[in-house]
Amino acid sequence: MARFIFITGGVVSSLGKGLMAASLAALLQARGFKVRLRKFDPYLNVDPGTMSPYQHGEVYVTDDGAETDLDLGHYERFTGVPSKRTDNITSGRIYSDILAKERRGEFLGGTVQVIPHVTDAIKTFALTDVDDVDFVLCEIGGTVGDIESLPFLEAIRQLGNELGRGNAVFIHVTLVPYIAAAGELKTKPTQHSVKELRGIGIQPDVLVCRSEQPLPESDRAKIALFCNVRPSAVVPALDAESIYAVPLQYHEAGLDTEVLAAFGIADAPAPSLTKWTDIMERIAQPEGEVTIGVVGKYTGFKDAYKSLNEALVHGGIANRVKVNIRWIDSEIFEQEDAVLHLEPMHGILVPGGFGQRGAEGKIAAARFARERKVPYFGICFGMQMAVIEGARHLAGINGASSTEFGACADPIVGLLTEWKQDGRTETRAEGGDLGGTMRLGAFPARLRGDTRIAGIYGSTEISERHRHRYEVNIGYRERLEQAGMCFSGLSPDGALPETIEYPDHPWFIGVQFHPELKSKPFDPHPLFASFIEAAVAQSRLV
Ligand code: GLN
Repeated sequence: MARFIFITGGVVSSLGKGLMAASLAALLQARGFKVRLRKFDPYLNVDPGTMSPYQHGEVYVTDDGAETDLDLGHYERFTGVPSKRTDNITSGRIYSDILAKERRGEFLGGTVQVIPHVTDAIKTFALTDVDDVDFVLCEIGGTVGDIESLPFLEAIRQLGNELGRGNAVFIHVTLVPYIAAAGELKTKPTQHSVKELRGIGIQPDVLVCRSEQPLPESDRAKIALFCNVRPSAVVPALDAESIYAVPLQYHEAGLDTEVLAAFGIADAPAPSLTKWTDIMERIAQPEGEVTIGVVGKYTGFKDAYKSLNEALVHGGIANRVKVNIRWIDSEIFEQEDAVLHLEPMHGILVPGGFGQRGAEGKIAAARFARERKVPYFGICFGMQMAVIEGARHLAGINGASSTEFGACADPIVGLLTEWKQDGRTETRAEGGDLGGTMRLGAFPARLRGDTRIAGIYGSTEISERHRHRYEVNIGYRERLEQAGMCFSGLSPDGALPETIEYPDHPWFIGVQFHPELKSKPFDPHPLFASFIEAAVAQSRLV
Protein backbone atom coordinates (compact mmCIF):
# COMPACT_ATOMS: atom_id res chain seq x y z
CA MET A 1 0.00 0.00 0.00
CA ALA A 2 1.17 3.52 -0.78
CA ARG A 3 2.36 5.68 2.11
CA PHE A 4 1.34 9.34 2.19
CA ILE A 5 3.40 12.44 2.89
CA PHE A 6 1.32 15.59 3.44
CA ILE A 7 3.11 18.90 3.02
CA THR A 8 1.74 22.15 4.41
CA GLY A 9 3.23 25.63 4.57
CA GLY A 10 3.22 28.22 7.28
CA VAL A 11 4.11 31.85 8.09
CA VAL A 12 4.34 33.14 4.50
CA SER A 13 3.82 31.88 0.97
CA SER A 14 6.61 31.40 -1.60
CA LEU A 15 8.74 29.27 0.73
CA GLY A 16 9.53 26.76 -1.98
CA LYS A 17 7.14 24.06 -0.79
CA GLY A 18 6.82 22.73 -4.33
CA LEU A 19 10.58 22.50 -4.71
CA MET A 20 10.86 20.85 -1.34
CA ALA A 21 8.21 18.28 -2.28
CA ALA A 22 9.90 17.64 -5.64
CA SER A 23 13.31 17.32 -3.99
CA LEU A 24 12.08 14.93 -1.31
CA ALA A 25 10.43 12.82 -4.01
CA ALA A 26 13.71 12.79 -5.97
CA LEU A 27 15.58 11.66 -2.84
CA LEU A 28 13.11 8.85 -2.15
CA GLN A 29 13.39 7.85 -5.79
CA ALA A 30 17.19 7.83 -5.45
CA ARG A 31 16.71 5.27 -2.70
CA GLY A 32 14.76 3.04 -5.04
CA PHE A 33 11.18 3.98 -4.10
CA LYS A 34 8.42 4.75 -6.60
CA VAL A 35 6.83 8.15 -6.05
CA ARG A 36 3.89 10.27 -7.17
CA LEU A 37 3.41 13.95 -6.41
CA ARG A 38 0.10 15.78 -6.06
CA LYS A 39 -0.95 19.36 -5.58
CA PHE A 40 -4.12 20.51 -3.80
CA ASP A 41 -4.97 24.12 -4.64
CA PRO A 42 -7.47 25.85 -2.36
CA TYR A 43 -8.59 28.57 -4.82
CA LEU A 44 -12.00 28.53 -6.49
CA ASN A 45 -10.87 28.50 -10.13
CA VAL A 46 -11.73 25.12 -11.65
CA ASP A 47 -8.16 24.93 -12.95
CA PRO A 48 -5.40 27.49 -13.58
CA GLY A 49 -6.09 27.41 -17.35
CA THR A 50 -7.85 30.75 -17.48
CA MET A 51 -5.74 32.50 -14.84
CA SER A 52 -3.36 35.26 -15.92
CA PRO A 53 0.29 34.21 -16.00
CA TYR A 54 0.96 37.42 -14.05
CA GLN A 55 -1.18 36.12 -11.20
CA HIS A 56 -0.39 32.50 -11.17
CA GLY A 57 2.67 31.91 -13.31
CA GLU A 58 2.80 29.37 -16.10
CA VAL A 59 0.05 26.87 -16.77
CA TYR A 60 1.65 23.45 -16.85
CA VAL A 61 0.03 21.02 -19.31
CA THR A 62 0.10 17.27 -18.72
CA ASP A 63 0.21 14.52 -21.36
CA ASP A 64 -3.44 13.77 -20.69
CA GLY A 65 -4.39 17.38 -21.40
CA ALA A 66 -4.94 18.93 -17.96
CA GLU A 67 -4.02 22.57 -17.35
CA THR A 68 -2.35 22.49 -13.96
CA ASP A 69 -0.33 24.41 -11.40
CA LEU A 70 3.30 25.13 -12.24
CA ASP A 71 4.44 23.08 -9.26
CA LEU A 72 3.60 19.99 -11.31
CA GLY A 73 6.39 21.13 -13.63
CA HIS A 74 8.86 20.99 -10.74
CA TYR A 75 7.55 17.55 -9.81
CA GLU A 76 8.08 16.22 -13.29
CA ARG A 77 11.47 17.91 -13.79
CA PHE A 78 12.82 16.49 -10.54
CA THR A 79 11.42 12.96 -10.75
CA GLY A 80 10.86 12.33 -14.45
CA VAL A 81 7.43 10.90 -13.54
CA PRO A 82 4.89 12.32 -16.02
CA SER A 83 2.15 14.22 -14.17
CA LYS A 84 -1.45 13.33 -14.81
CA ARG A 85 -4.83 15.01 -14.64
CA THR A 86 -5.34 13.21 -11.33
CA ASP A 87 -2.36 15.00 -9.75
CA ASN A 88 -3.84 18.48 -9.36
CA ILE A 89 -7.15 19.47 -7.82
CA THR A 90 -8.65 22.83 -6.86
CA SER A 91 -11.52 23.76 -4.55
CA GLY A 92 -13.24 25.04 -7.68
CA ARG A 93 -13.11 21.61 -9.33
CA ILE A 94 -14.35 19.87 -6.19
CA TYR A 95 -17.25 22.28 -5.73
CA SER A 96 -18.20 22.18 -9.39
CA ASP A 97 -18.34 18.35 -9.33
CA ILE A 98 -20.33 18.31 -6.08
CA LEU A 99 -22.76 20.96 -7.29
CA ALA A 100 -23.31 19.13 -10.58
CA LYS A 101 -24.11 15.98 -8.58
CA GLU A 102 -26.45 17.94 -6.35
CA ARG A 103 -28.29 19.28 -9.43
CA ARG A 104 -28.70 15.72 -10.71
CA GLY A 105 -30.31 14.78 -7.41
CA GLU A 106 -27.58 12.33 -6.49
CA PHE A 107 -27.58 13.33 -2.83
CA LEU A 108 -31.17 12.04 -2.56
CA GLY A 109 -32.45 15.06 -0.69
CA GLY A 110 -29.60 15.15 1.83
CA THR A 111 -27.93 18.38 2.97
CA VAL A 112 -24.66 18.94 1.11
CA GLN A 113 -21.89 20.14 3.45
CA VAL A 114 -18.17 20.90 3.59
CA ILE A 115 -17.77 18.04 6.06
CA PRO A 116 -18.29 15.32 4.90
CA HIS A 117 -18.95 16.01 1.21
CA VAL A 118 -16.09 18.33 0.32
CA THR A 119 -13.62 16.55 2.61
CA ASP A 120 -14.68 13.15 1.25
CA ALA A 121 -14.12 14.36 -2.31
CA ILE A 122 -10.63 15.56 -1.31
CA LYS A 123 -9.85 12.21 0.31
CA THR A 124 -11.10 10.28 -2.72
CA PHE A 125 -8.89 12.43 -4.93
CA ALA A 126 -5.84 11.76 -2.73
CA LEU A 127 -6.42 8.01 -2.72
CA THR A 128 -7.15 7.54 -6.44
CA ASP A 129 -4.65 5.88 -8.76
CA VAL A 130 -1.86 5.24 -6.27
CA ASP A 131 -1.61 1.44 -6.39
CA ASP A 132 1.71 1.31 -8.20
CA VAL A 133 3.71 3.68 -5.98
CA ASP A 134 5.47 3.52 -2.60
CA PHE A 135 5.02 7.16 -1.62
CA VAL A 136 2.41 9.76 -2.56
CA LEU A 137 3.53 13.28 -1.73
CA CYS A 138 0.60 15.69 -1.40
CA GLU A 139 1.35 19.40 -1.29
CA ILE A 140 -1.39 21.64 0.08
CA GLY A 141 -1.28 25.08 -1.58
CA GLY A 142 -1.58 28.26 0.44
CA THR A 143 -0.57 28.89 4.03
CA VAL A 144 -1.96 27.44 7.25
CA GLY A 145 -4.47 29.93 8.59
CA ASP A 146 -6.07 30.70 5.21
CA ILE A 147 -9.83 30.22 5.33
CA GLU A 148 -9.91 28.43 2.00
CA SER A 149 -7.31 25.78 2.96
CA LEU A 150 -9.36 24.54 5.92
CA PRO A 151 -11.30 21.77 4.13
CA PHE A 152 -8.01 20.41 2.77
CA LEU A 153 -6.36 20.41 6.17
CA GLU A 154 -9.40 18.73 7.70
CA ALA A 155 -9.33 16.10 4.93
CA ILE A 156 -5.65 15.27 5.44
CA ARG A 157 -6.17 15.19 9.21
CA GLN A 158 -8.89 12.57 8.69
CA LEU A 159 -6.72 10.69 6.22
CA GLY A 160 -3.85 10.59 8.72
CA ASN A 161 -6.18 8.81 11.12
CA GLU A 162 -7.69 6.49 8.57
CA LEU A 163 -4.40 5.45 7.01
CA GLY A 164 -2.98 4.76 10.46
CA ARG A 165 0.40 5.19 12.08
CA GLY A 166 3.34 4.46 9.84
CA ASN A 167 1.36 5.21 6.70
CA ALA A 168 1.09 8.99 6.82
CA VAL A 169 3.62 11.66 7.70
CA PHE A 170 3.03 15.40 7.98
CA ILE A 171 5.71 17.90 6.98
CA HIS A 172 5.30 21.58 7.72
CA VAL A 173 7.46 24.12 5.86
CA THR A 174 7.97 27.38 7.72
CA LEU A 175 10.10 30.50 7.76
CA VAL A 176 12.65 31.39 10.42
CA PRO A 177 13.27 35.07 9.66
CA TYR A 178 16.51 36.86 10.39
CA ILE A 179 16.04 40.20 12.13
CA ALA A 180 19.09 42.24 11.18
CA ALA A 181 18.63 44.87 13.90
CA ALA A 182 18.71 42.18 16.57
CA GLY A 183 21.22 40.04 14.68
CA GLU A 184 19.04 37.02 15.42
CA LEU A 185 16.89 34.38 13.82
CA LYS A 186 13.37 34.32 15.21
CA THR A 187 11.52 31.08 15.95
CA LYS A 188 8.24 32.61 17.11
CA PRO A 189 6.47 32.65 13.70
CA THR A 190 7.21 28.92 13.38
CA GLN A 191 5.87 28.24 16.87
CA HIS A 192 2.66 30.11 16.02
CA SER A 193 2.23 28.36 12.72
CA VAL A 194 2.60 24.92 14.30
CA LYS A 195 0.19 25.96 17.08
CA GLU A 196 -2.36 26.86 14.39
CA LEU A 197 -1.82 23.50 12.68
CA ARG A 198 -2.16 21.60 15.96
CA GLY A 199 -5.37 23.52 16.64
CA ILE A 200 -6.74 21.89 13.48
CA GLY A 201 -5.63 18.51 14.80
CA ILE A 202 -2.43 18.01 12.81
CA GLN A 203 0.81 17.39 14.67
CA PRO A 204 3.65 17.75 12.16
CA ASP A 205 6.27 14.99 12.20
CA VAL A 206 8.96 16.99 10.40
CA LEU A 207 9.50 20.76 10.26
CA VAL A 208 11.39 22.24 7.35
CA CYS A 209 12.71 25.63 8.41
CA ARG A 210 13.59 28.00 5.59
CA SER A 211 16.06 30.69 6.56
CA GLU A 212 18.71 32.96 5.12
CA GLN A 213 21.16 32.17 7.90
CA PRO A 214 22.31 28.82 9.32
CA LEU A 215 20.01 27.66 12.12
CA PRO A 216 21.99 27.40 15.40
CA GLU A 217 21.54 24.19 17.43
CA SER A 218 19.96 26.22 20.24
CA ASP A 219 17.21 27.48 17.90
CA ARG A 220 16.70 23.99 16.57
CA ALA A 221 16.25 22.68 20.10
CA LYS A 222 13.87 25.50 20.95
CA ILE A 223 11.69 24.89 17.88
CA ALA A 224 11.66 21.16 18.68
CA LEU A 225 10.57 21.78 22.26
CA PHE A 226 7.82 24.26 21.47
CA CYS A 227 6.54 22.44 18.43
CA ASN A 228 6.61 18.96 19.92
CA VAL A 229 8.99 17.29 17.44
CA ARG A 230 12.41 15.66 17.84
CA PRO A 231 15.34 18.08 17.35
CA SER A 232 16.58 15.97 14.43
CA ALA A 233 13.17 16.44 12.79
CA VAL A 234 13.73 20.20 12.63
CA VAL A 235 15.37 20.32 9.21
CA PRO A 236 17.13 23.55 8.30
CA ALA A 237 16.76 24.76 4.72
CA LEU A 238 19.01 27.56 3.57
CA ASP A 239 18.60 29.32 0.23
CA ALA A 240 20.36 27.35 -2.53
CA GLU A 241 22.62 28.58 -5.34
CA SER A 242 20.58 26.63 -7.91
CA ILE A 243 17.26 24.83 -7.63
CA TYR A 244 19.08 21.67 -8.73
CA ALA A 245 21.26 21.88 -5.62
CA VAL A 246 18.15 21.61 -3.45
CA PRO A 247 17.86 17.77 -3.40
CA LEU A 248 21.53 17.46 -2.37
CA GLN A 249 21.13 20.17 0.24
CA TYR A 250 18.02 18.54 1.74
CA HIS A 251 19.78 15.21 1.85
CA GLU A 252 22.73 16.75 3.74
CA ALA A 253 20.27 18.36 6.14
CA GLY A 254 18.79 14.91 6.80
CA LEU A 255 15.32 15.41 5.33
CA ASP A 256 14.85 12.04 3.63
CA THR A 257 16.32 10.17 6.61
CA GLU A 258 13.94 11.98 8.99
CA VAL A 259 10.91 11.33 6.82
CA LEU A 260 11.75 7.63 6.54
CA ALA A 261 12.33 7.51 10.31
CA ALA A 262 8.88 9.05 10.82
CA PHE A 263 7.47 6.14 8.82
CA GLY A 264 9.51 3.73 10.96
CA ILE A 265 11.65 2.75 7.97
CA ALA A 266 15.24 2.28 9.13
CA ASP A 267 16.59 -0.08 6.48
CA ALA A 268 16.11 1.94 3.27
CA PRO A 269 19.07 1.80 0.89
CA ALA A 270 21.32 4.88 0.79
CA PRO A 271 20.37 7.19 -2.06
CA SER A 272 22.33 7.17 -5.29
CA LEU A 273 22.87 10.86 -5.95
CA THR A 274 25.35 10.85 -8.85
CA LYS A 275 22.64 12.14 -11.20
CA TRP A 276 22.35 15.30 -9.07
CA THR A 277 26.05 15.76 -8.36
CA ASP A 278 26.75 15.51 -12.10
CA ILE A 279 24.13 18.19 -12.86
CA MET A 280 25.57 20.47 -10.19
CA GLU A 281 29.11 19.93 -11.42
CA ARG A 282 28.02 21.01 -14.92
CA ILE A 283 26.18 24.06 -13.54
CA ALA A 284 28.99 25.12 -11.21
CA GLN A 285 31.80 24.72 -13.73
CA PRO A 286 30.57 25.84 -17.16
CA GLU A 287 33.03 25.88 -20.03
CA GLY A 288 31.52 28.94 -21.67
CA GLU A 289 28.38 31.04 -21.82
CA VAL A 290 25.74 32.15 -24.29
CA THR A 291 23.10 34.84 -24.21
CA ILE A 292 19.58 34.06 -25.36
CA GLY A 293 17.00 36.78 -25.97
CA VAL A 294 13.50 35.64 -25.03
CA VAL A 295 11.08 37.97 -26.78
CA GLY A 296 7.77 37.71 -24.99
CA LYS A 297 4.98 39.49 -23.21
CA TYR A 298 5.15 38.46 -19.57
CA THR A 299 8.85 39.19 -19.30
CA GLY A 300 8.53 41.08 -16.00
CA PHE A 301 7.30 37.97 -14.24
CA LYS A 302 9.57 34.99 -14.70
CA ASP A 303 7.20 32.40 -13.24
CA ALA A 304 5.13 32.96 -16.38
CA TYR A 305 7.85 31.14 -18.34
CA LYS A 306 8.99 28.74 -15.63
CA SER A 307 9.42 25.59 -17.74
CA LEU A 308 10.96 27.56 -20.57
CA ASN A 309 13.52 29.10 -18.25
CA GLU A 310 14.41 25.66 -16.91
CA ALA A 311 14.56 24.03 -20.36
CA LEU A 312 17.09 26.68 -21.43
CA VAL A 313 19.15 25.91 -18.33
CA HIS A 314 18.95 22.22 -19.28
CA GLY A 315 20.17 23.07 -22.78
CA GLY A 316 23.14 24.72 -21.06
CA ILE A 317 23.72 21.64 -18.90
CA ALA A 318 23.77 19.48 -22.05
CA ASN A 319 26.42 21.74 -23.64
CA ARG A 320 28.32 22.56 -20.43
CA VAL A 321 27.66 26.28 -20.85
CA LYS A 322 25.95 28.89 -18.74
CA VAL A 323 22.85 30.29 -20.41
CA ASN A 324 22.19 33.98 -19.73
CA ILE A 325 18.58 34.79 -20.47
CA ARG A 326 17.63 38.31 -21.51
CA TRP A 327 13.89 38.81 -21.16
CA ILE A 328 12.83 41.31 -23.82
CA ASP A 329 9.35 42.80 -23.92
CA SER A 330 8.26 42.47 -27.56
CA GLU A 331 6.29 45.72 -27.37
CA ILE A 332 9.48 47.76 -27.35
CA PHE A 333 10.11 46.76 -30.97
CA GLU A 334 7.03 48.69 -31.91
CA GLN A 335 8.80 51.91 -30.90
CA GLU A 336 12.48 51.06 -31.18
CA ASP A 337 14.73 49.34 -33.66
CA ALA A 338 14.87 45.61 -32.96
CA VAL A 339 18.49 45.47 -34.06
CA LEU A 340 19.77 47.31 -31.01
CA HIS A 341 18.28 44.77 -28.63
CA LEU A 342 18.84 41.65 -30.67
CA GLU A 343 22.33 42.13 -32.03
CA PRO A 344 24.12 40.96 -28.86
CA MET A 345 22.07 37.75 -28.70
CA HIS A 346 23.46 34.32 -29.64
CA GLY A 347 19.98 32.95 -30.05
CA ILE A 348 16.42 34.30 -30.11
CA LEU A 349 13.45 32.51 -28.67
CA VAL A 350 9.84 33.58 -29.07
CA PRO A 351 7.75 31.61 -26.57
CA GLY A 352 4.03 30.80 -26.33
CA GLY A 353 1.65 33.71 -26.01
CA PHE A 354 -1.87 34.96 -26.46
CA GLY A 355 -3.39 38.07 -28.00
CA GLN A 356 -2.34 40.80 -30.35
CA ARG A 357 -0.41 43.00 -27.94
CA GLY A 358 3.28 42.75 -28.75
CA ALA A 359 2.71 40.39 -31.72
CA GLU A 360 4.29 42.74 -34.29
CA GLY A 361 7.41 42.88 -32.11
CA LYS A 362 7.65 39.10 -32.15
CA ILE A 363 7.27 39.13 -35.93
CA ALA A 364 10.11 41.68 -36.08
CA ALA A 365 12.29 39.43 -33.90
CA ALA A 366 11.63 36.44 -36.20
CA ARG A 367 12.51 38.57 -39.23
CA PHE A 368 15.76 39.73 -37.63
CA ALA A 369 16.75 36.14 -36.79
CA ARG A 370 15.92 34.87 -40.27
CA GLU A 371 17.66 37.64 -42.17
CA ARG A 372 20.71 37.82 -39.90
CA LYS A 373 21.01 34.03 -39.63
CA VAL A 374 20.84 34.03 -35.83
CA PRO A 375 19.47 30.80 -34.25
CA TYR A 376 15.70 31.17 -33.80
CA PHE A 377 13.40 28.97 -31.76
CA GLY A 378 9.68 29.70 -32.06
CA ILE A 379 7.42 27.91 -29.64
CA CYS A 380 3.67 27.76 -30.32
CA PHE A 381 2.83 31.47 -30.76
CA GLY A 382 6.52 31.90 -31.66
CA MET A 383 6.08 29.49 -34.57
CA GLN A 384 2.84 31.16 -35.67
CA MET A 385 4.53 34.59 -35.72
CA ALA A 386 7.52 33.19 -37.64
CA VAL A 387 5.18 31.75 -40.28
CA ILE A 388 3.34 35.08 -40.61
CA GLU A 389 6.72 36.80 -40.95
CA GLY A 390 7.83 34.43 -43.72
CA ALA A 391 4.49 34.77 -45.47
CA ARG A 392 4.71 38.56 -45.49
CA HIS A 393 8.35 39.09 -46.33
CA LEU A 394 9.35 36.00 -48.31
CA ALA A 395 6.14 34.86 -50.00
CA GLY A 396 4.79 38.39 -50.50
CA ILE A 397 1.47 37.66 -48.80
CA ASN A 398 1.01 41.17 -47.45
CA GLY A 399 -2.26 40.55 -45.60
CA ALA A 400 -0.83 37.59 -43.66
CA SER A 401 -1.98 37.52 -40.03
CA SER A 402 -3.75 35.41 -37.42
CA THR A 403 -7.51 35.38 -36.90
CA GLU A 404 -6.67 35.56 -33.19
CA PHE A 405 -6.24 39.30 -33.87
CA GLY A 406 -9.49 39.65 -35.85
CA ALA A 407 -10.57 38.96 -39.42
CA CYS A 408 -7.79 39.35 -42.00
CA ALA A 409 -7.19 39.03 -45.74
CA ASP A 410 -4.83 36.06 -45.42
CA PRO A 411 -5.48 33.94 -42.32
CA ILE A 412 -2.08 32.23 -42.27
CA VAL A 413 -2.97 31.27 -38.70
CA GLY A 414 -6.61 30.41 -38.10
CA LEU A 415 -8.98 29.18 -35.43
CA LEU A 416 -9.12 25.44 -35.09
CA THR A 417 -12.69 24.28 -34.72
CA GLU A 418 -12.30 20.57 -35.25
CA TRP A 419 -9.59 18.00 -34.61
CA LYS A 420 -9.12 14.33 -33.76
CA GLN A 421 -8.18 13.28 -30.25
CA ASP A 422 -7.97 9.67 -29.08
CA GLY A 423 -10.09 8.54 -32.04
CA ARG A 424 -12.86 11.10 -31.34
CA THR A 425 -13.59 14.29 -33.22
CA GLU A 426 -13.42 17.33 -30.94
CA THR A 427 -15.34 20.39 -32.10
CA ARG A 428 -15.33 23.95 -30.78
CA ALA A 429 -17.48 26.94 -31.59
CA GLU A 430 -16.19 30.45 -32.02
CA GLY A 431 -17.06 32.37 -28.86
CA GLY A 432 -17.41 29.18 -26.77
CA ASP A 433 -16.09 28.66 -23.22
CA LEU A 434 -12.45 29.63 -22.65
CA GLY A 435 -11.64 27.13 -19.89
CA GLY A 436 -10.24 23.74 -20.93
CA THR A 437 -11.27 24.12 -24.57
CA MET A 438 -7.93 24.45 -26.36
CA ARG A 439 -6.13 21.65 -28.19
CA LEU A 440 -4.57 20.31 -24.99
CA GLY A 441 -2.15 17.56 -24.11
CA ALA A 442 0.08 15.15 -25.98
CA PHE A 443 -0.43 14.69 -29.73
CA PRO A 444 1.74 12.69 -32.12
CA ALA A 445 3.48 14.33 -35.06
CA ARG A 446 5.30 12.91 -38.05
CA LEU A 447 8.56 14.52 -39.13
CA ARG A 448 10.01 14.53 -42.62
CA GLY A 449 13.10 12.31 -42.51
CA ASP A 450 15.43 14.68 -44.36
CA THR A 451 14.91 17.65 -42.03
CA ARG A 452 17.02 19.19 -39.30
CA ILE A 453 14.35 18.55 -36.70
CA ALA A 454 14.16 14.82 -37.49
CA GLY A 455 17.95 14.70 -37.04
CA ILE A 456 17.66 16.45 -33.68
CA TYR A 457 15.02 14.03 -32.40
CA GLY A 458 16.75 11.07 -34.02
CA SER A 459 13.27 9.93 -35.04
CA THR A 460 10.41 10.82 -37.34
CA GLU A 461 7.66 9.89 -34.87
CA ILE A 462 7.31 12.22 -31.90
CA SER A 463 4.73 13.14 -29.29
CA GLU A 464 4.63 16.53 -27.62
CA ARG A 465 2.25 18.58 -25.48
CA HIS A 466 0.00 21.23 -26.97
CA ARG A 467 -1.95 24.20 -25.62
CA HIS A 468 -3.40 26.42 -28.31
CA ARG A 469 -6.54 27.40 -30.11
CA TYR A 470 -5.13 28.51 -33.47
CA GLU A 471 -3.18 26.60 -36.14
CA VAL A 472 -0.96 27.42 -39.09
CA ASN A 473 -3.23 27.09 -42.11
CA ILE A 474 -2.09 24.13 -44.23
CA GLY A 475 -3.74 25.77 -47.25
CA TYR A 476 -0.77 28.11 -47.58
CA ARG A 477 1.81 25.33 -47.49
CA GLU A 478 2.69 25.32 -51.17
CA ARG A 479 3.22 29.08 -51.41
CA LEU A 480 5.30 29.13 -48.25
CA GLU A 481 7.40 26.14 -49.29
CA GLN A 482 8.08 27.76 -52.65
CA ALA A 483 9.34 30.78 -50.73
CA GLY A 484 11.84 28.62 -48.81
CA MET A 485 10.04 27.55 -45.62
CA CYS A 486 9.90 23.81 -44.97
CA PHE A 487 6.87 22.21 -43.31
CA SER A 488 9.05 19.65 -41.58
CA GLY A 489 6.42 18.05 -39.32
CA LEU A 490 2.69 17.45 -39.63
CA SER A 491 -0.07 15.83 -37.60
CA PRO A 492 -0.43 12.15 -38.62
CA ASP A 493 -3.45 12.97 -40.84
CA GLY A 494 -1.39 15.65 -42.60
CA ALA A 495 -3.91 18.38 -41.76
CA LEU A 496 -2.02 20.40 -39.16
CA PRO A 497 1.48 21.84 -39.46
CA GLU A 498 3.40 20.87 -36.31
CA THR A 499 6.92 22.11 -37.11
CA ILE A 500 8.61 24.40 -39.63
CA GLU A 501 12.21 25.24 -40.48
CA TYR A 502 14.37 27.05 -43.03
CA PRO A 503 16.84 24.59 -44.58
CA ASP A 504 19.18 27.42 -45.64
CA HIS A 505 19.43 28.91 -42.14
CA PRO A 506 21.90 27.71 -39.46
CA TRP A 507 19.07 27.00 -36.98
CA PHE A 508 15.53 28.28 -37.45
CA ILE A 509 12.84 26.03 -36.04
CA GLY A 510 9.23 26.64 -35.10
CA VAL A 511 7.14 24.12 -33.20
CA GLN A 512 3.41 24.26 -32.55
CA PHE A 513 3.86 22.38 -29.26
CA HIS A 514 5.62 23.06 -25.96
CA PRO A 515 8.83 21.00 -25.76
CA GLU A 516 9.89 22.90 -22.61
CA LEU A 517 7.29 20.98 -20.60
CA LYS A 518 9.12 17.69 -21.01
CA SER A 519 12.73 18.82 -20.47
CA LYS A 520 14.60 17.60 -17.39
CA PRO A 521 17.99 18.58 -15.97
CA PHE A 522 19.15 14.97 -16.26
CA ASP A 523 17.48 14.54 -19.65
CA PRO A 524 17.56 17.89 -21.50
CA HIS A 525 15.04 18.15 -24.32
CA PRO A 526 16.86 17.54 -27.65
CA LEU A 527 15.48 20.75 -29.19
CA PHE A 528 16.81 22.86 -26.32
CA ALA A 529 20.14 21.02 -26.31
CA SER A 530 20.45 21.61 -30.07
CA PHE A 531 19.31 25.25 -29.89
CA ILE A 532 21.93 26.05 -27.24
CA GLU A 533 24.54 24.18 -29.28
CA ALA A 534 23.65 26.43 -32.23
CA ALA A 535 23.89 29.48 -29.95
CA VAL A 536 27.37 28.35 -28.86
CA ALA A 537 28.38 28.16 -32.55
CA GLN A 538 26.87 31.64 -33.08
CA SER A 539 28.82 33.02 -30.09
CA ARG A 540 32.05 31.95 -31.79
CA LEU A 541 31.11 33.95 -34.92
CA VAL A 542 30.51 37.30 -33.21
N1 GLN B 1 -2.46 32.13 -28.94
C1 GLN B 1 -2.04 31.05 -29.76
C2 GLN B 1 -3.14 30.01 -29.92
O1 GLN B 1 -4.04 29.94 -29.13
C3 GLN B 1 -0.77 30.40 -29.25
C4 GLN B 1 -0.93 29.75 -27.92
C5 GLN B 1 0.37 29.42 -27.28
O2 GLN B 1 1.41 29.96 -27.63
N2 GLN B 1 0.35 28.55 -26.27
O3 GLN B 1 -3.08 29.22 -30.83
